[in-house]
Amino acid sequence: MSALPITSAADRLHTPLGVLQEVFGYNAFRGQQGAIVDHVCAGQNALVLMPTGGGKSLCYQVPALVRQRRGQGATLVVSPLIALMQDQVSMLEQLGVEAAFLNSTLSSDAAQDIERRWRSGHLSLLYAAPERVLTSRFLAMLDSLHERGLLSLLAIDEAHCVSQWGHDFREDYLGLSQLAQRYPGVPRLALTATADELTRTDIVDRLALQDAQRFVSSFDRPNIRYTIVEKEDPRAQLLAFIRQGHQSEAGIVYCATRKKVEETAVWLSDHGIRALPYHAGLDLALRHQHQQVFVEHDTRDGGLVMVATIAFGMGIDKPDVRFVAHLDLPRTVEGYYQETGRAGRDGEPAEAWMVYGLADVVGQRRLIEDGQASEDFKRVLRGKLEAMLTLAEAHDCRRQRLLSYFDEPSEPCGNCDNCLEPPEMWDGTEAARMALSCVYRMTQHGAHNGARSFGAAHLIDVLRGKPSPKVRQYGHDRLSTYGIGRHLSEALWRAVLRQLVAQGHVMTEVELPTLLLTEGARAVLRGEVPLTMKQPREQLKLAARNARPTRGGINGTGSATRSAHDWIVEFDEAAQARFERLKTWRTTQSKAQGRPAYVIFHDSTLAEMAARRPATAEDLATISGVGARKLAAYGADLLALM
Ligand code: ADP
Ligand code: ZN
Repeated sequence: MSALPITSAADRLHTPLGVLQEVFGYNAFRGQQGAIVDHVCAGQNALVLMPTGGGKSLCYQVPALVRQRRGQGATLVVSPLIALMQDQVSMLEQLGVEAAFLNSTLSSDAAQDIERRWRSGHLSLLYAAPERVLTSRFLAMLDSLHERGLLSLLAIDEAHCVSQWGHDFREDYLGLSQLAQRYPGVPRLALTATADELTRTDIVDRLALQDAQRFVSSFDRPNIRYTIVEKEDPRAQLLAFIRQGHQSEAGIVYCATRKKVEETAVWLSDHGIRALPYHAGLDLALRHQHQQVFVEHDTRDGGLVMVATIAFGMGIDKPDVRFVAHLDLPRTVEGYYQETGRAGRDGEPAEAWMVYGLADVVGQRRLIEDGQASEDFKRVLRGKLEAMLTLAEAHDCRRQRLLSYFDEPSEPCGNCDNCLEPPEMWDGTEAARMALSCVYRMTQHGAHNGARSFGAAHLIDVLRGKPSPKVRQYGHDRLSTYGIGRHLSEALWRAVLRQLVAQGHVMTEVELPTLLLTEGARAVLRGEVPLTMKQPREQLKLAARNARPTRGGINGTGSATRSAHDWIVEFDEAAQARFERLKTWRTTQSKAQGRPAYVIFHDSTLAEMAARRPATAEDLATISGVGARKLAAYGADLLALM
């Protein structure tokens, strides 16, 4: 590897655009990045809300470099996760930036060395977790930098962690409020990919960002297609989903419990889909290993599925996750948005797919009611669950619902299940009345026999006139409602019940799965509450229509963004061969350096090289993702592969 001459005017590195182009190798800022960077470079506070993959990191990395070059000192990045820090630091080192992290994985020698570089102001960026930042030792270091005018910027990543209304509250984040008092005049920048209004207000209060300008980007992820289907045989549905176009891709499957994670991973493996489990109960080394395998996975080796609890994912920067599937309902829309947002960070088509059924509604309700939280807190949790249920039950555009949850108006998207195949609607008012009066009669009648309430399956048997042993045992075949719902399918009845529970007309008792009427049921019984519902769809029919999702970039840049996909489509055989050579070269580099392949170059960068076939270092420098350092380090190698 020999160094190539590069022209770089030192002055350019004092400007945001110069840093972006020279150091990061990108041509232009995206969306609000430019405005945010200018604001922060000028020493102002900011709250940045930008979706995953939107490019939050550059919002503090560029100001960190600009401000340091202007002699204003170093930047501290507070980040909750070790994996995230490591990834970011790896990327920055590749770009020739002096960056480091301090966390528990370091030997004490290594940590001391980093502290020394930090104290002397040699680092441009230091990443640390909040619990470390708040130790007296660390604060003393910060004090000393501050006194010498060498503390330039405080960036607080994943800022929603400071709010108990966020989906990922962390006690340690609360203490960060003291940074404002302790270092007045040092600009603070809080960033998050998810926060509803309640959480935003909380972030502002707790981080003392009252005077901070808010930069709210569109939360739309147009390349992600949203689909929510009724749960019937979830594993078989999942398998069909994966086999229909995702077999040789990387994806994440979220499950609610550790047990289910393990079982699902084994089951998928038994069915020929390579799958690894990940949850907080696994041995740390194994967990780490699985994460590593996933992050470094290359689709040339076939598909790979990470089956995980929500313990997995934050800080995983893998750009080419093609699908995120949920086998259980997330508790909040923020959680759903965050988890599904891990798909398609590269802007290429990706899918968010979920199965959802009555048991999810019942289970989530119970978790809240049986929990130890205060009544106030429970009220908020209930509200959040309601919003999630509304999204799951929606018969109109999912994306519109999702975005409106984050206060963002939008038009029907054309890239969700309901837009692509508008569900047939059905007036369920009568059915709802039948179901509720049947519950009423069953509980009345059952009372004589010592039973107070019955589950959904039993109710459906009674409605459909099925003489099961239990129906006979309780004499429910003698009820006037026995068999009144014979004309409707079981699936339809399940949907009716699910919606009644979701809307709070039927309550589910502690003994799962038993049903009781609520106050609200009266109005439904009197026919005062019209219920318009979706006809349940047949799963396989739905799955079969599944063509590849349409394309689109992050933040609506859409087709204007050229992406790896375009280049690949335009590839002739020779370009394809170059692309393969480049990838092989990258694999060798990645192994030799012990870094994930995408840290060296993204697929899209390699694809652009293969398609454009640069002949000189200057040509190479115009390719998106090739900055000065990478050009110097890899330029000769790359040109030789053209
Ligand atoms: P976030 O932290 O918001 O999820 P990242 O900061 O990881 O997003 O950025 C997502 C991807 O987009 C990264 O691969 C990053 O290099 C790329 N990116 C960000 N900003 C730009 C830009 N202005 N031009 C080109 N690529 C960009
Ligand atoms: Zn839609």
